[in-house]
Amino acid sequence: MSKPKVAIFDFACCEGCQLQVVNLEEEILDLLSVVQPVEWREAMSEKSDTFDVAIIEGSITRREDEERVRAIRERAKVLVALGACATVGGINKLKNRFAMEEVRRCVYDAAADMPHLDTYPTKAVGEVVKVDYQVHGCPISKKEFGYILRCLVTGKEPFVPTYPVCVECKMQENVCRYEFNEVCLGPVTRAGCGAKCPSAGFWCFGCRGLAEDPNVQAAREVMAEYGKTPEDLQGRLQLFNGGKEQAS
Ligand code: SF4
Ligand code: SF4
Ligand code: SF4
Repeated sequence: MSKPKVAIFDFACCEGCQLQVVNLEEEILDLLSVVQPVEWREAMSEKSDTFDVAIIEGSITRREDEERVRAIRERAKVLVALGACATVGGINKLKNRFAMEEVRRCVYDAAADMPHLDTYPTKAVGEVVKVDYQVHGCPISKKEFGYILRCLVTGKEPFVPTYPVCVECKMQENVCRYEFNEVCLGPVTRAGCGAKCPSAGFWCFGCRGLAEDPNVQAAREVMAEYGKTPEDLQGRLQLFNGGKEQAS
């Protein structure tokens, strides 16, 4: 049986998630036994017009990106969004808090009227095309990437938690960051990282996106208990989740 052809494409991002894939080291050999990379700018010079699986890293930040990602979608049987920039828009979405014309003037100043600089707001890949699988995080976890790719190849549905980071954090028996007078996004953020940040003594900044059904009421109660307000949470959500309305 021939191996599925995989192409990796990057849009607006730091390419840190692709780097995680490059850094798979020995495991990459295992993955190469089940898939065939045919295009991957960060790791190979070959290109291909045909592929089965398209892996998209980065956000859609320009009109021409939208056309490019649609063309990729048309050619791919399966499309995977890789990392927070692709799954939720990530830090690129910070600009959406402002008027796009203001952003353009602020960044490009006297050059702002150049024709290729438009006022397009940042979008996650799923806001433009259908996404079949998502690998969450900033950066992604190498282990979760390998797991999801194997599921995809074998036709299994990967298990990706829909519950919040607090569940994993409690299992690690961490002292809650609210006890340190911090605002942690664990109550509303999708688990799956093993509560990496609170376990390292830092608040969760929401890189895996919102939990599917975030318990906003419970989060409010936690914040009230520690003298915090919904605005504190909303402010923190700007970093990765564009200040989602659900948390207000
Ligand atoms: S999700 Fe984070 S690590 Fe990955 S490309 Fe975006 S900014 Fe870089
Ligand atoms: S709020 Fe943060 S630190 Fe507290 S339990 Fe939840 S994830 Fe852990
Ligand atoms: S704890 Fe939060 S910010 Fe840290 S890796 Fe997990 S989801 Fe991302």
